[in-house]
Amino acid sequence: MLKGRCDCGKVRFEVPKVRNTVTVCHCGQCRRASGHAWASTHAPYDSLSFTADDGLTWYESSDFAKRGFCKFCGCSLFYRMNTEDGIGIAAGCLESPTGLKIGKHIFVKDKGDYYDITGDAPQLQKL
Ligand SMILES: [Zn+2]
Ligand SMILES: [Zn+2]
Repeated sequence: MLKGRCDCGKVRFEVPKVRNTVTVCHCGQCRRASGHAWASTHAPYDSLSFTADDGLTWYESSDFAKRGFCKFCGCSLFYRMNTEDGIGIAAGCLESPTGLKIGKHIFVKDKGDYYDITGDAPQLQKL
């Protein structure tokens, strides 16, 4: 069982299993939401159980997706497509050891100009 939480603890959840890779998104929206690139894994939404959700708030970031964050501490936690059963879970909010590895970088064409992407994971211009 993996556990995750926001910084203040008003959002806490457990998930039995997540995809074993992390996708790093370099699009402008993810960079604004997270402060840098947004790194997330994935799981079926129904497999998450919240042990605290007082802070959980959803921002409709586009016509097709929402971003979940804590309204008290501001941590960026989730990304959910309206038509999908799955949910993107911020890798940074999971307790270590996660056993996860970066699987790919996406929207590399939109990355910030202040860093380089390193490592062996594929770098996709878009998705
Ligand atoms: Zn919080
Ligand atoms: Zn993105």
